[in-house]
Amino acid sequence: MPAGDSFYITTPIFYVNDVPHIGHAYTEVAADVLARFHRQRGDDTWLLTGTDEHGQKILRTAVANDTTPQAWADQLVESAWKPLLETIDIRNDDFIRTTEARHEKAVATFLQRLYDDGHIYSGEYEGYYCVGCEEYKQLDDLQPGEGEFLGALVCKIHGRPVEILKEKNYFFRMSAFEDRLLDLYETRPDFVQPASVRNEIIQFVKQGLADLSISRSSFDWGIKVPWDESHVVYVWFDALLNYITAVGYGADDEQLERRWPAVHIVGKDIARFHAVIWPAMLMAADLEVPKAVFGHGWLLVGGEKMSKSKLTGIAPAQITDTFGSDAFRYYFLSAITFGQDGSFSWEDLSARYQAELANGFGNLASRVIAMVIKYFDGAVPDAAVDAPIAELERSVTVAANEAIDRFAVGESIAETWKLVDALNLYITEQEPWALAKDPAQRDRLKAVLATAVHGLGTLAILLSPVLPQATARLWPAVGGEGEVDAQPIHEAYSWSGHGTVTALESSLFPRIETVEDAG
Ligand SMILES: [Zn+2]
Repeated sequence: MPAGDSFYITTPIFYVNDVPHIGHAYTEVAADVLARFHRQRGDDTWLLTGTDEHGQKILRTAVANDTTPQAWADQLVESAWKPLLETIDIRNDDFIRTTEARHEKAVATFLQRLYDDGHIYSGEYEGYYCVGCEEYKQLDDLQPGEGEFLGALVCKIHGRPVEILKEKNYFFRMSAFEDRLLDLYETRPDFVQPASVRNEIIQFVKQGLADLSISRSSFDWGIKVPWDESHVVYVWFDALLNYITAVGYGADDEQLERRWPAVHIVGKDIARFHAVIWPAMLMAADLEVPKAVFGHGWLLVGGEKMSKSKLTGIAPAQITDTFGSDAFRYYFLSAITFGQDGSFSWEDLSARYQAELANGFGNLASRVIAMVIKYFDGAVPDAAVDAPIAELERSVTVAANEAIDRFAVGESIAETWKLVDALNLYITEQEPWALAKDPAQRDRLKAVLATAVHGLGTLAILLSPVLPQATARLWPAVGGEGEVDAQPIHEAYSWSGHGTVTALESSLFPRIETVEDAG
């Protein structure tokens, strides 16, 4: 992708009925690393995140907590969701809440347009409804209950009985878009990623699409249907629209033109909403479909999907309080292949922190800088970078950037880590401390330390999206000028600094003596 392109990326907007767990933080971090990478490449980047605040589930939670849904949402957003972004160092460009006027107005505009163009009709709907999912379920989505729910049909996701609801609804003629959707998946194989999620989506659509009920009249916590105020908009229909209402749909055509279409990073469990319903809605409104929908895997703890309801929820701060936000970001993106399920364990996190961040990267930086100070009073020797390291710097820069274009964040980190490992091996083999004892080896010592310092600068640039805090400290310490996150990441290998190093006040990744068992 050439520099200067628009790169608009989104996370799902998170439902405010509960507090964040590490599954939410994982999605945020992945989208943030992709955004930072593109920003550092010079792309016109925009990262959107936010909160989904309407629907019956929020209403019920608010009532159960003796408050109003708006007050409930306000409190959760301020006390939990916005602080999460600080905890894990997310640099979002915007934060949208579905209760904001800019969103509600634009949703009404969108809906009215679809209604005027004949994509919406009124009908009667009767079906199995899961309050947990906020959606009507097909028989395939249900199973016979057990124990206290014996004799009832329960939602496969929530394990709780579904309700039979019958109401007058407005329907979106989604069935009319079946062929166009199948054509989209066919002609743009990258539209849904990874392949496992794409195949699932295609199978689902091939079974035939039903029209979608898009209004509710049994409760009123939602955006009113503009031509019939006795109905509120179905929460998913409302929520999906955030991706365009946040960038000016119905209000600022120039901004919409500049940003849209987006890349959507979502958990695979909600890929269907993003890869089927959402593009159909956009087609109906004559808008472009997203650039891509990427459905990442689940985080497993003890083999179970991470979620508060299953009592395996871990608050992100439990990890960052001990290891720091950089380690959180690094761990989840390097230990788990993006797109597949992955297991979290405290032991694995702790082992990787020590081996890869503290010993592998942090020690390398401290040792090299200390030797330049000791042997050259901090002046980086004026010598050419040894060819094999120079070549590696170039090749990992290319490979790390190329992996990002495929959303292969872990692969990008692994490519960069080849340079960490190579530099550690280089120092071990070249033994600069031995060269320093022999005046005849002075030139060789200069070349070795010049090479090592240059490699560290390249690492700082390439790892800046993943490790923003550590690299912001390392960059000036190796003589880098300006801010590390402003250095062109696609040309990381070609940096040059002002030629002096300064000691790091403390290790980039301090040794952690005892790991508190928060599990
Ligand atoms: Zn459910």
